[in-house]
Amino acid sequence: MLDWNRIDTLLLDMDGVLLDLAFDEFFWHFELPARYAAVYHLDEDDAREKLLAMYREREGRQDWYDVDYWSRRLGFDVASIKVRQAHRIREHAGVRFFLARARERGCRSVLLTNAHPKTLRLKMAVTRLEPLLDETISTFELGAGKESRTLWERLQRRLDLDPARTLLVEDSATNLRTARDYGIGQLVYISRPNSLRGAVPHPEFHSIEGLADLACPPLSPARSRFC
Ligand SMILES: [Mg+2]
Repeated sequence: MLDWNRIDTLLLDMDGVLLDLAFDEFFWHFELPARYAAVYHLDEDDAREKLLAMYREREGRQDWYDVDYWSRRLGFDVASIKVRQAHRIREHAGVRFFLARARERGCRSVLLTNAHPKTLRLKMAVTRLEPLLDETISTFELGAGKESRTLWERLQRRLDLDPARTLLVEDSATNLRTARDYGIGQLVYISRPNSLRGAVPHPEFHSIEGLADLACPPLSPARSRFC
């Protein structure tokens, strides 16, 4: 159980937590292989195999999230393909209600993503969630990803964060582990980041299907600031 009386700041991941990971899976596993196959005259399944091998090679590194890296590597403009498919980007059910309730309670809501700033801008332009958030941060701005302790040190300075009074919501167990080791006080794992797939709870972390299940309790009349 979360102790909402000990939470000042919410750090919310973007892909899989605020937004449906179905878009990213479609984009990286279907749209990009189709484009790669067309450009290099390959069978689509072969193109997918090749791309999946390239993704695995860059996994856990900032390159993986860098659309400019993929444009250079693949020889065509990956960001503009994403823009053409942007109508498929969707927020998860219940996200707006959750963010509105968090704001009502005086919690600071921060979107914290490893996604490239171009991807972050595109997704905020499509979903228009930004007015409900106090800050949106791409870890590219801080020069380290969430898998790295360095990120958490820089983030603490940037946000003047009290780690013990911070809640992180993630669909990455790796990121949750790093945050836990750093001292982030409350951690929640999203077990159903992709609405087209079933939930897979994580044995190490408090797991919920989505933010709609994370009831941010209403503000008691006696409290004016902070959860
Ligand atoms: Mg994610």
